Amino acid sequence: MQRISDVDAMQLNNAWQDRNAITRFSQLQALLAGVVPEEALEEIKMGLQRVGMSIRLNPYVITLVDWTHFKTDPIRRQFLPMSSELEPDHPCLTVDSLEERDHSPVPGLVHRYPNKALFLVTSVCPVYCQYCTRSYAVGSDTALVQKDHVTSPQFWDGALDYIRKTPQIEDVVISGGDVSRLKAAHLRALGNALLDIEHVRRLRFATKALSVQPMKFLDDKEWVEAFLEIFERGGTLFKHVCLHTHFNHPREITPIVERAARLLHEAGVFVRNQTVLLRGVNDDAQTLIDLVRALGRVQIHPYYVYMCDMIRGTEHFRLPLHRGQELEKQIRGSTAGFDTPLFIVDTPGGKRDIHSEEFYDQDLGISGFLSPVVSPGQVFHYFDPLRSLGASAQETWITGRWRENNLARLSSPAFTSIAAE
Ligand SMILES: *Cc1c(COP(=O)(O)O)cnc(C)c1O
Ligand code: SF4
Repeated sequence: MQRISDVDAMQLNNAWQDRNAITRFSQLQALLAGVVPEEALEEIKMGLQRVGMSIRLNPYVITLVDWTHFKTDPIRRQFLPMSSELEPDHPCLTVDSLEERDHSPVPGLVHRYPNKALFLVTSVCPVYCQYCTRSYAVGSDTALVQKDHVTSPQFWDGALDYIRKTPQIEDVVISGGDVSRLKAAHLRALGNALLDIEHVRRLRFATKALSVQPMKFLDDKEWVEAFLEIFERGGTLFKHVCLHTHFNHPREITPIVERAARLLHEAGVFVRNQTVLLRGVNDDAQTLIDLVRALGRVQIHPYYVYMCDMIRGTEHFRLPLHRGQELEKQIRGSTAGFDTPLFIVDTPGGKRDIHSEEFYDQDLGISGFLSPVVSPGQVFHYFDPLRSLGASAQETWITGRWRENNLARLSSPAFTSIAAE
């Protein structure tokens, strides 16, 4: 078993990071022996029995954690659950809150918007995030969630056929999972197959590797070459090929990330970032300001900041809508307008601007959004976390009285506004 002291020497070795990634609690225990108090490991062990995501963590991310302050550390919190911080779920949390499986005409493809599609090409990632929106399919089974198997290469032909037959699709997000887990040959074949489709004008490859395994870009020459080949071919076809990534905290922007981002920038690749707003990780204005400024300095465009989706096992990460709205106001103006992210509530009707709610009952923590392009007339909700509500509202939700109390009518497509009642 590797020791944490080996990590520094192997920081730039991508294959070593993969080989030594931790996927079982016993490996974590061995790696952190003597680094972390027993008590912390015990709490993590108990936490893992109650959540929807399995663990996968490479040595690089483990060294980003400040283990002397592990309880409050924003990096640890994203990847390793501790039993003491978990909260009972709001009754409206589900395993697939964006209803991706209902918008999936063929396995592995989500077609929600008229001209965009989301292609789920793999169910694995370099590390697993505890708040993952796609916990229904990503990672290994846990006690809480048995995974759907919809993302393996055996489904690619069906998804590609669907895209070929659907001329309104101009834009394909290639995600998962994480495209950094594809073999170079598969990435090349997939990219070329998509570029060959005339009506597809934009490809975005989604990978968290830039933030959690940046040595991938410096050390896995074969993979980078395949990606740049697709990028350059896209250029000659006058198509947009770019990279989407996922940083949540300014401490994730390390000198290795900077080198990887420089390589992409020099090659001409545009990189956009999507952040998830997470309690105890990045839910204060200064952290978000530091994050967007740091991203701007390494030429990564801060595209979106998402409210945490209503996924089972993530209640402790969630924030009320009004908190997200407040944070947006505090961030806007702190750096270039084009580097200021849009704050988003994602719904089965698509992504909505955080300030665009049709109504907001703060007592019960219910807001409603419309999405005329995706589903005219239908209301999509965000439910604030129970902790942010008063005692009687919490009671209403917990006891199930909200059903009797007629609150279920809020889910009716006909319902558009509390004010109109
Ligand atoms: C997020 C998403 C997209 C891309 O949306 P943009 O707002 O253009 O980034 C496409 N399809 C699905 C299903 C999505 O969730
Ligand atoms: S990298 Fe993305 S898909 Fe993978 S576990 Fe994290 S949030 Fe989920």
